[in-house]
Amino acid sequence: MGAVILKRSDVNEDRIPNLCICCGKPATARPTKTFSKRQEWTNTMLFLGGVPYFACAALFRNYATMSTPLCDSHRNHFRWQSAIFWGGLAIIATLLIGCFAMIPHMPDKILQNCFAGTGIFALLWVIAYVINNFVSVTAAKVDDHEILLVGVADRFANACNRRSSDYVDEVEEASHFQFARR
Ligand SMILES: [Zn+2]
Repeated sequence: MGAVILKRSDVNEDRIPNLCICCGKPATARPTKTFSKRQEWTNTMLFLGGVPYFACAALFRNYATMSTPLCDSHRNHFRWQSAIFWGGLAIIATLLIGCFAMIPHMPDKILQNCFAGTGIFALLWVIAYVINNFVSVTAAKVDDHEILLVGVADRFANACNRRSSDYVDEVEEASHFQFARR
């Protein structure tokens, strides 16, 4: 697994190699995916505590939408990521609503067990989400000029780097040619 810096201009003009971003095999699909990363200043909110930090990290984000090349085996890669995050969140919300709804009807002992069960599920969900983030393609940095993706296939990263150096060579060659003609 590697990392690659993509220029915004390459992403916007879809100059991304047609190799699976996960394994480097020839891609068979290019679904649109929006990567996002919290804005760096939101780190300072940690001093104010967990809730302001997570609220700002969720609200103040930079986004980059790109067509992501994927092979047949990895065509659902980003769907799994979303399913784990949103599916887990929906289950936790439902469990919490259920626990609160039972407060007037159940003895304290059972309620304690229900809330403890929800807490254990939430903890497992966080662990699953963190592990999934480590093995998935995610954005480590998104700004106005570039996007740093981590967890990409080395072959994909090499192809991107080769392509951008070819592009620089082409631009240099073109400017030399223009200069020579003057
Ligand atoms: Zn693949």
